[in-house]
Amino acid sequence: MKDCIDTVFSGIQPSGGLHWGNYIGAVHHWVTLQSQYRCLFCIVDYHAITQAYEPKHFQAKILDMAADLLASGIDPNQSIFFIQSDVPEHTELCWILNSVTPFGDLSRMTQFKEKSQQHNASINAGLFGYPVLQAADIALYKANKIPVGQDQIQHVELVRRIVRIFNQRFGTLFPEPEPMLSQTPKILGLDGQAKMSKSMNNTIEFSANQDVVRKKIAAAATDPQRKRRNDTGNPEHCNIYTLHQFFSDKETIAWANHGCKTADIGCVDCKKALSTAALDHFSEIRMRKETWIAQPDNIKDILKTGAQKARVIAQETMNEVREKMGL
Ligand code: ADP
Repeated sequence: MKDCIDTVFSGIQPSGGLHWGNYIGAVHHWVTLQSQYRCLFCIVDYHAITQAYEPKHFQAKILDMAADLLASGIDPNQSIFFIQSDVPEHTELCWILNSVTPFGDLSRMTQFKEKSQQHNASINAGLFGYPVLQAADIALYKANKIPVGQDQIQHVELVRRIVRIFNQRFGTLFPEPEPMLSQTPKILGLDGQAKMSKSMNNTIEFSANQDVVRKKIAAAATDPQRKRRNDTGNPEHCNIYTLHQFFSDKETIAWANHGCKTADIGCVDCKKALSTAALDHFSEIRMRKETWIAQPDNIKDILKTGAQKARVIAQETMNEVREKMGL
């Protein structure tokens, strides 16, 4: 691992492949951090089981997520890349942190409220305690930089509070982590309403082919005030423009911005340019994914090696935790 002070940790659920929201909001950012920081990236399967899932297909989903992340540029030579349940210390520390987490704070989490509305047939204690497991994920590696999308800011705030309470009660052990946002921390869904999320069925999949990308972008919402071709628009209120800021070069971004404000271009032209830029961005990544998918044993080896490295750190931390707590 790199000999630097800051440690980055982030995780992603294997509950359906990557989509443009979590790729742009988080994963692409992770890739850029690898050369500067000591990084750990984790496929958080213990988190994923708090929602309905199919055990028969779970391993395939985990492997597919790993292939997506490797194809995106997560580099196991630079970062520790592993599966959460291969390091049982995550759940051990989670139990310990449960005992210092205020119940009232957990009940204020907006993501719990949203998810429990979406899945009201199976609201379980794991879904409620989700941020405590996140606190354990982070604290286990004494991570202090947490690259996430905007939707996770509230959880990182709670993690700070949990580790602060632990440190005050048992003696300082964990740093208080800070969220790190990418330039595009909130990607809306194609409806332009809620954040892009698998559970909202408003995503473009990371592996979507050319036809799907063009079709979905063509049907996506734009600035709601721009109703006719000759109306001027406000790019700041348009999700297509947000996506241009990620996928397109400077000239195309300026063209889209000016063309929208002056009605020089219509939304159809703007969307076509976005699809072209996005397909260009993903063309190499898609080829890399094909290569990874063809070598599942290699992916499994990478994840096992990552878990071994993670576990060495996790066990050291747990020894310190037990000593401080008189366990
Ligand atoms: P999902 O919300 O689709 O279930 P995850 O919860 O696994 O995805 O999130 C993985 C990471 O991606 C988190 O850091 C989260 O903040 C980020 N993320 C997810 N959706 C978006 C989005 N629409 N815009 C920006 N970041 C996002």
